[in-house]
Amino acid sequence: MKAVGVSIAKREVRLIDHPEPALVRPDEVKLRILEVGVCGTDREICEFKFGEPPAGSQHLVLGHEAVGEVIEAGTGVTTLKPGTLVVPMVRLPCAVPTCAACVAERQDFCLTDTFPEHGIRRCHGFMTEKIVEREKYLVPVTADLREVAVLVEPLTIMDKALRELDAVATRLPFVGGKRALVLGAGPVGLLGAMAFLLRGYETTVVARSPGTTPNAALTKAIGARYISSRETPVDQWGEVDVIYEAAGSPAAAFESLGALAPNGALILTGVPGAGDFLKFDAGRFVREVVLKNQLIVGTVNAGKASFTGAIASLRLMNQRWPDALRGLITSRSPLESFGSLLLEKPAGIKNVLVL
Ligand code: BGC
Repeated sequence: MKAVGVSIAKREVRLIDHPEPALVRPDEVKLRILEVGVCGTDREICEFKFGEPPAGSQHLVLGHEAVGEVIEAGTGVTTLKPGTLVVPMVRLPCAVPTCAACVAERQDFCLTDTFPEHGIRRCHGFMTEKIVEREKYLVPVTADLREVAVLVEPLTIMDKALRELDAVATRLPFVGGKRALVLGAGPVGLLGAMAFLLRGYETTVVARSPGTTPNAALTKAIGARYISSRETPVDQWGEVDVIYEAAGSPAAAFESLGALAPNGALILTGVPGAGDFLKFDAGRFVREVVLKNQLIVGTVNAGKASFTGAIASLRLMNQRWPDALRGLITSRSPLESFGSLLLEKPAGIKNVLVL
């Protein structure tokens, strides 16, 4: 089978010949991969900043945002059958028996940092023709979402963030601020903005680019406000109750705190590289966070409930903004085009490889 493989040792990204996997356990399912989204994490792995092949393998098959079709189901599989569309989960539990998070099937909160993540760390990904995975790590999607289901994984990040927000909001039953700010106008940010709008938030997207980009146009088309941080300083953004950071820029995250209301929450989702040193007034920063009862929360990956939740939200988005949702996917190209999407800085919002 063809696959996009990264060899970290050889510093090489190329189309490789990868063996077709076979079912070995009764609860396993074989999928034909239909589409795989390309994201910043994939590009970082291709720059050898991140990523780890499975033990004993020379390469890592890339790709963690996918939709596939079941082609074979093991004898113990009860909920999936050939023809079912599914989105595979990214992170699998670690093998440490004392990891309470993984034992509880919440590997997105793994305590040992030894979890495998498809296409990222210690486990092959989805930029290949077929994969085998256990039934419990595959989430079914209905056929009406076939065209947009590749967006489920980036949306799970927001679904988990909203669950975190709901959990902390229980401390404030008497206030219910509904002003949201999204930092970053990439796919994670724009899907986040749609999710805030679905919940009735007055939503602003802040990104560096001017208001003339397709991302800005899409922001306005869904009914959110767009601000270019290069044109408008933070003291003119207006006060917000929650900030969803999806820009991967620590400087932008700190700057955005200037717009956060008392009792507000800043949710960080970007994964910046180390070494981004900032000179800032730490005294003022801590004082403001304390005096305003603010929360700063980091969140990574997502559990099964967030995959199911993201699929439900995607269905609502598909009804409310069918064109804008499709507009997030700016290109579809064959697997062989991986080079221009992974090794260069491609134009567009979400670029997708088709198998
Ligand atoms: C993925 C997450 C993953 C994270 C860190 C992101 O691109 O969406 O699922 O946990 O990278 O590896």
